[in-house]
Amino acid sequence: MQLRCFVFFIAFVLINASKKRYDGNLLLSVIPSEEEHLEFLFDLESRSEISIWNEIRRNGSVHVMLDKIKQAQLTPLFQSRHMEPTVLINDVQTLFDDEERTLRVQARDGFPRSIVDTFYTYEQYSSWLNQMAAAYPNLAQLMSIGKTYENRNIWLIKLTANSGKPKKTILFDFGIHAREWISPSTGGYLINEFLTKYAAGGDAKTILDNWELHIIPILNPDGYAYTHSRDRMWRKNRKPNGVCTGVDLNRNFGYKWNTGGSSGDPCSDTYHGGSAMSENEAKALENYATGKPWTTYLTFHSYGQWWFTNWGYSKEDPPSYQLLKQKAQIGANAIQSVHGRKYTIGSSSQLLYVASGGSEDWTRGVLGIIYSYCLELPPTGSPGFVVPTSEIKKTGSETYTGMVAYLKSF
Ligand SMILES: [Zn+2]
Repeated sequence: MQLRCFVFFIAFVLINASKKRYDGNLLLSVIPSEEEHLEFLFDLESRSEISIWNEIRRNGSVHVMLDKIKQAQLTPLFQSRHMEPTVLINDVQTLFDDEERTLRVQARDGFPRSIVDTFYTYEQYSSWLNQMAAAYPNLAQLMSIGKTYENRNIWLIKLTANSGKPKKTILFDFGIHAREWISPSTGGYLINEFLTKYAAGGDAKTILDNWELHIIPILNPDGYAYTHSRDRMWRKNRKPNGVCTGVDLNRNFGYKWNTGGSSGDPCSDTYHGGSAMSENEAKALENYATGKPWTTYLTFHSYGQWWFTNWGYSKEDPPSYQLLKQKAQIGANAIQSVHGRKYTIGSSSQLLYVASGGSEDWTRGVLGIIYSYCLELPPTGSPGFVVPTSEIKKTGSETYTGMVAYLKSF
């Protein structure tokens, strides 16, 4: 028994020794009010002086992670620009340690946690998907739509009922950015809810009787696995690019690719890749989605509580802008009705900044899906990506209500 404990202890030490640590890093809030401030932040990030957690916007709180030395260097520069730096999180590593401790305790206390209670690893998520597909053969069909660089399956689960009715079709994806854990968990919540509630009738039955839901729960499996094993703050996929690793998949899509708001530097967090659609994950989505008659497309990120319409690449109004906003409002109102959390609706480039190569621009520009949206799940502020496990049910339940209302509006 003692030997077994010792082996577990050594394994735990080895696993944690290989994890990237952020000791002494803190999270600051700064408020850029001028174009020059935005450029200052983008420049600091491109030189890896800081890491920006949320979406940069003028007159909004931008969350900047940096170490104590950089804090001492940059605070006077922020102050001289009247960007009002305030501390949101004093020690980011403590946040990661707490999260890891919670997941470890949940994993070993003998009670198998469900997808709505804890953040699954890629392996746990994969076996759960297989179990659900086996348990609900008349409602769910699981398939792999491609393999990643590290040879993981990119799963897609199709949910629909044999109702004999003509079906509308929605394509959902989650987890395109690795560190945004609440996104795949919300996907899991939706899958779980639709499958387990169908038999009772109600909304789950109404939706699956009239829709095909094509759900990619983790579009970036390698990156997601890496956030569990090595670096909680990883965003890109894991394909090597010479000196650095990874492409920002949400800058790699092939509509107006590399036309602003992405980086050509392979070491940048927003590296757009060597060419449009160069990445396996983007190609998997392209191969699956092309040629099918989609009613709508939704991609889920975190965080900020935004419901973005096109375009990302341009500040021009997208076609049918009023219609797009009205449709989004139906979903956002329903979300707000559950816990009071409000989403801001509009074109991402107009509300924030230009960013090209996003999946929702590609689904609109190339596939022609008019109702293509990008959602940024909660929260709006601290603790950003590292939300407590209780947030899975909270975000999941309101998102489910929002999706039901949104889909019923078609
Ligand atoms: Zn994201």
